[in-house]
Amino acid sequence: MDEFSYFKLKIDAKPTLFHGKTVRKNLTQTLWLKKIRPHILKENNYTCAICKHCPNEENYKELHVHEIEEYDFDNGVVKLIGLDLICANCHAFQHFKRSQLVLSPEQLDRLITHFTKVNNCSIEDYNLYRKKLQRSAFEQNIERIMFRQKSTITKIDHIRFAILGDIPFKDLVIERLKQKGVYYEYS
Ligand SMILES: [Zn+2]
Ligand SMILES: [Zn+2]
Repeated sequence: MDEFSYFKLKIDAKPTLFHGKTVRKNLTQTLWLKKIRPHILKENNYTCAICKHCPNEENYKELHVHEIEEYDFDNGVVKLIGLDLICANCHAFQHFKRSQLVLSPEQLDRLITHFTKVNNCSIEDYNLYRKKLQRSAFEQNIERIMFRQKSTITKIDHIRFAILGDIPFKDLVIERLKQKGVYYEYS
């Protein structure tokens, strides 16, 4: 992927096994919306970390808090390693598999325009990048993941969460996950 290493905005995809599983979904609205989100907004100066989009106050909803995750397939654990503030357009590429399913062709076109603008690249570059992703690491990864899913899914009854990053209100988040019986601690 070397020739695309200059891209600021990249495509990511959450492995199927962990779809719909996020720390956020296990938290109360109050903890997320009244504590964590305002903290992340302020900390990032109300600006998208990728494209620097900086909406005015009535449009803060265009800024999303994205959970940066890693995955432990052996134990069925989503590892939260940080929280990013990114705009809705950039966010759609962090969850691109989902975006492709839920967005109209026109919305996808607009997103691709955003992608080429942020990365200062052409549509042809975008298409090459997509192709390369599909061919190389991406597909191999998916295959490996599918294999591991099959071999481990029988042993995993539910997905759990570990908090490895330094996130605001970390203690409250962990307490809440423990309450719900979905906290996983690495020793
Ligand atoms: Zn952005
Ligand atoms: Zn996200």
